[in-house]
Amino acid sequence: MNKMILSVEDLTVSFDGFNAVDNLNFYVAPNELHVVIGPNGAGKTTLLDMICGKTKPTKGTISFKGLNLERMLEYQITRAGVGRKFQNPLVYEDLTVFENLEISYPRKRDVFGSLFFECDATVRDRIEENARLIFLDDQLQRKAGLLSHGQKQWLEIGMLLMQEPELLLLDEPVAGMSAKEREKTGELLRNIAQNRSMVVIEHDMEFVKAIAHKVTVLHQGKKLAEGAMEKVQSDPRVIEVYLGH
Ligand code: ADP
Repeated sequence: MNKMILSVEDLTVSFDGFNAVDNLNFYVAPNELHVVIGPNGAGKTTLLDMICGKTKPTKGTISFKGLNLERMLEYQITRAGVGRKFQNPLVYEDLTVFENLEISYPRKRDVFGSLFFECDATVRDRIEENARLIFLDDQLQRKAGLLSHGQKQWLEIGMLLMQEPELLLLDEPVAGMSAKEREKTGELLRNIAQNRSMVVIEHDMEFVKAIAHKVTVLHQGKKLAEGAMEKVQSDPRVIEVYLGH
């Protein structure tokens, strides 16, 4: 399992005696687009919350490039290369697309502790490259508040990419998108996965089929099935769980 970028082992979190995630083993390979599915309450969001440090596990380990994330704080995990996007887009509506990307570039502190920031050629190149990737290269001077819901979702992914994460955690990236936007988001995620890894929570099964390298099905905090989407969707246990809801 050493070639995995993320290894989650025996992961459990208990809320008042209830295990929202229960002894879970979960692995992500480099450049893998790994989709987590399962009915409401299965533990999908809680799993991502533990990987990014928002929720601390009761038991188990989360190893990312050899670092034990379960012992680290949220900001340290971000700096180590894990980027999390929540379901609703969080962009600065009064700033332009360019400015939203610019402020997402990791800033360094100088010796006096004050923040300094210079938008040099490297940062500009990175902004332009990411703007192309998220289909907003012709919208750089537009205020983010004027973008469509789908474009705001892309912008937030672009903002994450400014931090150069090696692992992205995305919660329902196509929620509320049009069919055309969903298709373009599939293209975007596959492009991102060319040199990064991703864990995506998704409910839209057609979208999952189009993007997933591997699928893990969670149910009541446990792994119900895992593998390619074709295999997982014909698994009788998975069918039963979905038809039962
Ligand atoms: P999913 O994302 O698959 O819909 P969640 O991870 O949000 O599921 O939730 C899994 C279970 O854990 C649910 O029953 C939810 O109510 C419970 N849960 C999640 N977070 C907390 C919390 N902070 N306190 C108590 N229960 C929680």
